[in-house]
Amino acid sequence: MSIQDAPPDPGRAAPIPGANAPSNATPSGPDPAAAGGLLTIDLTAIETNWRTLSSRTVPIECAAVVKADAYGCGLEPVTTRLAKAGCKTFFVADLAEGRQVRALARGAVIYVLNGLLPHTAQAFADANLRPVINGPAELAEWDAYVSGTNWRGGAALHVDTGMNRLGLSPDEAVAVASRAQLENHGFTLLMSHLACAEAPSHPMNDRQIRMFRELRILFRGVSSSLANSSGICRSFIGWLGASAQARWLISSLRSAAGDRNKPPAQVIVAGKRCPIAGRVSMDLITVDVTDVADGRARRGDFVTLIGSDLGIDEVATSLGTIGYEVLTRLGRRLHRVYKGG
Ligand SMILES: *Cc1c(COP(=O)(O)O)cnc(C)c1O
Repeated sequence: MSIQDAPPDPGRAAPIPGANAPSNATPSGPDPAAAGGLLTIDLTAIETNWRTLSSRTVPIECAAVVKADAYGCGLEPVTTRLAKAGCKTFFVADLAEGRQVRALARGAVIYVLNGLLPHTAQAFADANLRPVINGPAELAEWDAYVSGTNWRGGAALHVDTGMNRLGLSPDEAVAVASRAQLENHGFTLLMSHLACAEAPSHPMNDRQIRMFRELRILFRGVSSSLANSSGICRSFIGWLGASAQARWLISSLRSAAGDRNKPPAQVIVAGKRCPIAGRVSMDLITVDVTDVADGRARRGDFVTLIGSDLGIDEVATSLGTIGYEVLTRLGRRLHRVYKGG
């Protein structure tokens, strides 16, 4: 089988002004002519997804979680778009992301999920960010800060109703409520996280919902949040709408043996699904193109790694992980195109 070259693509081959800038200096990443892969992020799809989720929670507000660099999609473009679409509350992972979102959405309410690290209370107040209080030590530190400074910027109290990860125990939360010091803590949100939201019939959901309902009664007047995206809407992961294509690198065609115990992951070459053969070695994969018509697989063409015909969840399953991990690990070395931006 001979390998033909793809025809020149002016969009790819032309020198790009400022292309020598460091690869992560802009949200678009490295120069497309030189990058090994292209990631297309559809901001219109993200906005539509957020609107769909919001319409399912009416009259309750639907916040956007943009942690982990907006799940790998880019904190800045995603936050800017969702804020413009009317999203008023954002959740981020840490203080640094909180400050970034504050700069982009001046009037937004911003919660920081990783909570209060020691001696950071002042930094939260300075950027008007709200920590999610995840345990008794954080609670004590926030309490001391709030009573010492009279800061009323708000915070979330995270209660562990069954996730077994972060949060105060229900008993600890009851104690907070009964100390009648709610005002002192200045809590603006009572939150918990469903452990089995992707499995609607799991008995854990009902148990958690019941427990959360009881706690809400004790925290009357404080907003509450329980459902993540799969809690609001099955079959549908959040506001995400991403697709990625990676440039195909071929130096030669050889025969390669795959792992026969596992169905191989697939990519799309010239519109056809093809199995990956053998191991991934850094940036290189070997693709079995036996089924692609002669001459259709060309040197310099793109193959699709993730796209509308090859969904993130399918890719994740074949890699033995979940869609969130695939997205957040797409990395900074891809050239990014923001559609609808
Ligand atoms: C990440 C996170 C969410 C959002 O979860 P999705 O499944 O991405 O919708 C909600 N609550 C907490 C506490 C989280 O950490």
